[in-house]
Amino acid sequence: MQYDYIIVGAGIAGITAAEELANILEKKVLLIEKRDHIGGNCYDYVNEHGTIIHKYGPHIFHTNNLQVYNYLSLFTLWNTYNHKVLYKIDNKLVPVPFNLISIDKTRPGDSEEIKDALLDNYEVNAKVPIKELMESDNEYLKDLGEHIFKEVYFKDYKKLYNIEDTRIIELVDKMKPLHVSYDCRYYDDLYQAVPSYGYESMFENMLKNHNITVLLDTDYKDVLSINHDTKKVYYNNKEFEGHLIFTGRIDEFFDYKFGQLPYRSLILLNEDVDDVFFQDNATIHYPKEYHFTKITEFKYLTGQQTFYTTIQFEFPVEYDISNPEQNIPYYPINLEENQKIYEKYKKLSENYTNITFIGRLAEYKQYQMDEIVQKVLDLISNKFL
Ligand SMILES: Cc1cc2nc3c(=O)[nH]c(=O)nc-3n(C[C@H](O)[C@H](O)[C@H](O)COP(=O)(O)OP(=O)(O)OC[C@H]3O[C@@H](n4cnc5c(N)ncnc54)[C@H](O)[C@@H]3O)c2cc1C
Repeated sequence: MQYDYIIVGAGIAGITAAEELANILEKKVLLIEKRDHIGGNCYDYVNEHGTIIHKYGPHIFHTNNLQVYNYLSLFTLWNTYNHKVLYKIDNKLVPVPFNLISIDKTRPGDSEEIKDALLDNYEVNAKVPIKELMESDNEYLKDLGEHIFKEVYFKDYKKLYNIEDTRIIELVDKMKPLHVSYDCRYYDDLYQAVPSYGYESMFENMLKNHNITVLLDTDYKDVLSINHDTKKVYYNNKEFEGHLIFTGRIDEFFDYKFGQLPYRSLILLNEDVDDVFFQDNATIHYPKEYHFTKITEFKYLTGQQTFYTTIQFEFPVEYDISNPEQNIPYYPINLEENQKIYEKYKKLSENYTNITFIGRLAEYKQYQMDEIVQKVLDLISNKFL
């Protein structure tokens, strides 16, 4: 078959692109995926106890973007779910993002003074970056910022990224801001949910179109080749004259010419527990204990009612391309020197006018699902419509 578009990677980016190209533009699309399933890191499945498990870590859809919410709602019903995250700190379970309750729990001695200082300086419901607190002239706020950095994020980020202690501060902008409220939800977006029948069901609905061919278990390099001098793309050794949308790793595309972009990987261990519930909350982090960062109990997300429950331990590990246990690039390590390597790849990619690089691996960026869906929808309407 002659394809108008070839897409590498059947994650949410590749699937959204395929759906729009096939349904709206009536183009013929080939979607190539190296795993044995679609969905990328959002993939889920039903286990033997009937619980929906997110294989690559818990995924909660959350957004204020009505366009994206309405778009995905064409393909799924939703189970409304407001995610909550607790951190175990000094034997107390503390809500994060840190809020006024977290202050009461961890700073009983001076919580009133801290809250007064916050309310003197910020509006109710304000979100205050941790860095801003740490740099505050007010001694209570500065102390609070340092307290949150040290007690909540430092050890968690150390486990997650395994970088030198002195460099963890460089990731401070990734840390959830303090919320001047009693709202204990992890996200405060208007729409928060998981697909009622799972992400896979939603993705299958998105790909239901005779113009879409999905090739699973296929590394793109097995069927595509790129001549980097002429910038031509070959599919099964024949020149491909359509457009390639590439959502795989940008460094892999350029044969790691400037070196591998650093990632952290995860080992996710699931355990079935013969009880109705295991813990009091969907996700609990253990910044100071254990090698894993957190335990997630899936039933909270899906609202399923079963006699068994399944929990997932998340162990951050070194990314190792040659070790099948640790070769999934989960988290980009967005330190300045790594970003500079990415910029070199990006500059190179701009010469390939017949190829669009988009998605978390192609852009070395930690997107949330709604952000990448919006970006792909914009791409299709601005570039291909
Ligand atoms: C642990 C974790 C939890 C998360 N939780 C949330 C959350 O709660 N809410 C939220 O909004 N977002 C969450 N995210 C982010 C979300 O996973 C991403 O936004 C989303 O996966 C990005 O989609 P993508 O298509 O760009 O990438 P991916 O999902 O990674 O898809 C890329 C696809 O390309 C394929 N591929 C790669 N190389 C090749 C190759 N050589 N040949 C063929 N195929 C290839 C991969 O196998 C993969 O299927 C989380 C991320 C992680 C890591």
